[in-house]
Amino acid sequence: MAMRRVAIHGRHLLSSPHLFRRHMNTEPMAALDRIRNSGLLKTQGLVGGKWIDSYDGKKIEVQNPATGDVIASVPCMGSKETTDAISSAYSTYSSWSKLTAAERSKALRNWYDLIIKHKDELALLITLEQGKPIKEALGEVNYGASFIEFFSEEAKRIYGDIIPAPLSDRRLLVLKQPVGVVGAITPWNFPLAMITRKVGPALACGCTVVVKPSEYTPLTALAAADLALQAGIPPGALNIVMGNAPEIGDALLKSTQVRKITFTGSTAVGKKLMEGSASTVKKVSLELGGNAPCIVFDDADIDVAVKGSLAAKFRNSDQTCVCANRILVQEGIYEEFAKAFVKAVQGMQVGNGLVEGTSQGPLINEAAVQKVEKFVNDATSKGANVILGGRRHSLGKTFYEPTVVSNVNRDMLLFKDEVFGPVAPLVPFKTEEDAISMANDTNAGLAAYVFTKSIPRSWRVSEALEYGLVGVNEGIISTEVAPFGGVKQSGLGREGSKYGMDEYLEVKYVCMGNLKET
Ligand code: NAP
Repeated sequence: MAMRRVAIHGRHLLSSPHLFRRHMNTEPMAALDRIRNSGLLKTQGLVGGKWIDSYDGKKIEVQNPATGDVIASVPCMGSKETTDAISSAYSTYSSWSKLTAAERSKALRNWYDLIIKHKDELALLITLEQGKPIKEALGEVNYGASFIEFFSEEAKRIYGDIIPAPLSDRRLLVLKQPVGVVGAITPWNFPLAMITRKVGPALACGCTVVVKPSEYTPLTALAAADLALQAGIPPGALNIVMGNAPEIGDALLKSTQVRKITFTGSTAVGKKLMEGSASTVKKVSLELGGNAPCIVFDDADIDVAVKGSLAAKFRNSDQTCVCANRILVQEGIYEEFAKAFVKAVQGMQVGNGLVEGTSQGPLINEAAVQKVEKFVNDATSKGANVILGGRRHSLGKTFYEPTVVSNVNRDMLLFKDEVFGPVAPLVPFKTEEDAISMANDTNAGLAAYVFTKSIPRSWRVSEALEYGLVGVNEGIISTEVAPFGGVKQSGLGREGSKYGMDEYLEVKYVCMGNLKET
């Protein structure tokens, strides 16, 4: 195949399927052609197994944040399309929930196999619409697929109980049954994994689902849904609507047929959904914003601490709810750590995620860059020092320089809130008690990281941290087999692992009485 050369942001990109297989450079048009040729560029919503446009014909454009180019247009749907999606999920529920666990498991396993078969196309789609480097996008596809595989297995392990009865002529049983129709609202930062983490267990339990992906990243959701249909997940079991978020959200909240809302996104929207679920008393799971502390003690292995905090900080250009938001460093190691950390950050390559070697893509939109600028300005105006970066990147668009800010303290926005951009605030501390107090000084409670060689300290600090996840000497801790979720205002419920199934199950007690022989 002929090689084409295209200049993007001053870099030369080579396009060829063979090169992409080895994760070398490709260019956006070639990537899009490849997705189109695979049949996975879906640009309509999915309701009752049919691909549909919005009823009033309105559309939203999906842009590549690295170039600003429009990749595709998708329907801008609202309450009417959502109501139809709910009806379709509701009518399919009666048949899907009655299948045997083995039948549901098989369909999910087929879906997993198809996602893996198409992982290159899905990864390209993620990079095109979300911006993350292709290597991370491939990582997300594997991670996203792992939830479907795991929950295809868990489908067969929904056990009930038999409870010893207080009366001899009775038997007490506990059944676990699917909740019913689920409304799932997901963010843009993990366009595939945030969907599979919800839809996998929901379908495994026998629920049917209406998904609303983010307007920024609907294409990955639509491609994944197409693979679900191909896998034999019946029409109506998985529906996708996108567009007017408040209208879609309200339709899901008001419906008495929707029995569960599962949401990943900002704390502000999560609170609205929780409030809105009250009128119909729905079951609610929320995966909300974080403000992760990453605590580096004097006794840490410095290489492990730098590598771990770098991974925890800069993955997906820090647009991850579990990203280390504040790096707390003990005074004795502060200078040495800062120097080594800055050196490591300097080695990161910023650019289009399709360019080989890129480790930092663009931010999702202009508002995200403005938020980062506001946080950095706030810190410098209160006495912090920018020791690396601190500006928009010369690539323009929504690229921002990987940044390190030293001497951050509790009064600064960088300490108080999730920055969701590539800025690493270094916060000095004196004692273990100071570190724990600073770490817990937030309403968020999702992920925390600790770097120390002391085993007693690992236990002590892990137990004292008010967080749902703790990484000790490790910066990347998410896996489908472990429970993921926050405490305090970071959310309710857990995703992944055996605990993730409980969110989609109701517990029913059956008392069988009068069992005496007559
Ligand atoms: P967001 O603005 O809350 O959006 C999340 C989803 O909610 C999107 O699909 C959005 O739709 C939709 N939405 C917005 N307003 C709505 C409304 N009034 N009713 C119903 N739906 C509504 O959050 P984001 O900016 O996409 O995501 C970033 C946030 O997610 C960060 O705070 C991050 O920490 C959090 N997050 C948490 C986890 C976790 O597991 N805890 C994981 C990933 C991300 P549109 O995009 O179409 O407007």
